[in-house]
Amino acid sequence: MEKIRSFVDRYGFFILLLTCVAVIAGSGLWAVWQGARDAQDVQTGSTANIEAAEANATRLQRPVPGAVLRGFSEAAYSDTLGLYSAHQAIDLLADAGEAVYAAHPGTVSDIFRDIQLGAVVVISHEHGLETRYAALRWPPIVKKGEAVLAGQPIGTIGVALLETGDPPHLHFSVLDGGKAINPIVYME
Ligand SMILES: [Zn+2]
Repeated sequence: MEKIRSFVDRYGFFILLLTCVAVIAGSGLWAVWQGARDAQDVQTGSTANIEAAEANATRLQRPVPGAVLRGFSEAAYSDTLGLYSAHQAIDLLADAGEAVYAAHPGTVSDIFRDIQLGAVVVISHEHGLETRYAALRWPPIVKKGEAVLAGQPIGTIGVALLETGDPPHLHFSVLDGGKAINPIVYME
C-alpha cells in the first residue's frame, strides 16, 4: 500500500498527463474518422449528381419537328416490304428538302450512301452514343470528321428507297455502345 502511494506520488502527474494525451488522441481520431465518413457521403452525393447531369446531357433534340410516322420495334410488319422486319429506328414526318438537325453535339464519324436508306450521316457522341440520320439527300451539308453542335443543320430530307411507300420522312436511329435503342427514350 505504501509502495502504491509512493508510486502515485512520484508518477501521478505522468499518469494524468498520459490519460489526457490518450483522451485527446482518441477524440482526434474519432473526429478524423467522422470527417472521412462525411467526405465519403459528399463524394457519393456528387457522383449521383454527375450521373444525373450525364443523363440530362444525353437528352436528344428532335432532328426534325414532325410527328412519329413509324416507331421503334425489334420486329414489325412492314406494308412496304410485305413481311415482318425489325425497324430499329423511328421515322419522323418531314417535307422533302426540309432541313435535318443534329440531335446532340458530336463529331460526324461517317457519311455514306446506302441502297436502301439513301444518304446517311452518322454522328458520334460522348458515352458511346451514336445518332444516324437516314433518307437524306446526297450530299449532306456536313463532312466526315466535322464537329457539330446540337441543332446544327446536317442535311436535307431525301428518299429512303426501302420506305418509298411512305411519305417523306427522316429515318432516325440511336445506338448505345453499338446497340440500336429506341430513340424516344432519349428524346425531349
Ligand atoms: Zn424507317
